[in-house]
Amino acid sequence: MHEFIDKAVETHNLTKDELVFLLNSNKQIAKDLLKAADEVRKRFVGDEVHLRGLIEFSNICKNNCLYCGIRKDNRNATRYRMQPDEIIFLAEQAKKYGFKTIVMQSGEDLFFTTERMCYIISNIKKLDMAITLSIGEKSFEEYQAYKEAGADRYLLRIETTDKELYHRLDPGMSWENRKRCLEDLAVLGYEVGSGSMVGLPNQTISSIADDILFFKEMNIDMAGIGPFIPHKDTPLANATGRAFALSLKTMALTRLLLPDINIPATTAMEALDPNGRIIALQSGANVIMPNVTGCEYKKFYELYPGKTDINDTPLHCKTDIGIKINAIGRTIGKGYGNRGDFLKNVSNL
Ligand code: SAM
Repeated sequence: MHEFIDKAVETHNLTKDELVFLLNSNKQIAKDLLKAADEVRKRFVGDEVHLRGLIEFSNICKNNCLYCGIRKDNRNATRYRMQPDEIIFLAEQAKKYGFKTIVMQSGEDLFFTTERMCYIISNIKKLDMAITLSIGEKSFEEYQAYKEAGADRYLLRIETTDKELYHRLDPGMSWENRKRCLEDLAVLGYEVGSGSMVGLPNQTISSIADDILFFKEMNIDMAGIGPFIPHKDTPLANATGRAFALSLKTMALTRLLLPDINIPATTAMEALDPNGRIIALQSGANVIMPNVTGCEYKKFYELYPGKTDINDTPLHCKTDIGIKINAIGRTIGKGYGNRGDFLKNVSNL
């Protein structure tokens, strides 16, 4: 084992230079790194894999992120928006399939006013499910209203800590505002998830090391890290992306530095390798988000190409991943599986 990996396993700290070294490491060191992350995952968060049912409820977005297939200016995207009661119905279905948590994700769709969101959240809360939102940048007051209506967690990737790169890729948006959102969410008592894309055009290894240090500095509860995959109908259609191995290393290093957080095996990993999510689960991840969006919509929520399971029913998605999880000797989490639960050692609630 390389001395930096040993250091990370023992202290959960690495300097930026040490992170850069490991991100640049050769295959043998990388193999040891993923193995060490798997061991730390086992020691800190155990063998349970927490399933979150993902509902992608609208692909209408006011933003124009250069990398994203549902960006406003993509005229080739078929747009859809579920109605509030349709979303609540899907959550009810998800509960019947055994999910204890749902993640509601969408583009930044202005139809979903605070009032409409609170209506949806409070009705889903009645089902006694944990609610995660991933609906972008909002004001403190909006986040507060969602929290009071019953939201528990929020996912907002910082995307990259390279501010210049962020501003080039996310025109009209502000990196400082995105960071402000993460701070507001923490103040309001959300479990906060952030994360990044790996392999963006002109993204340096040094900035990826900064991303990992940012997650630590912000004391986040969850980190979603996935490869950037170019979409043909975006300005980045000809970019390279698809950095599977580097994404795995980034995820593994995040596990070593933040040993007790939740780390999903992202769908983008699966888009690059048919076994991508299982490989991620064996390299530090402990969460999977099976898609419970209805088949009629799923294919239109195309952030990037290669999304798997677009024709599978929600039940099939859950059963299929359950079999794969058991096959690698892991079990499906029985409870909400949040970080607080784990720290109180009652993760089976
Ligand atoms: N609107 C919300 C937001 O801004 O957080 C949630 C939806 S947004 C589309 C979800 C995530 O998709 C982004 O945070 C980004 O990291 C990821 N994403 C978008 N385009 C991608 C691409 N081409 N490859 C990989 N991930 C992508």
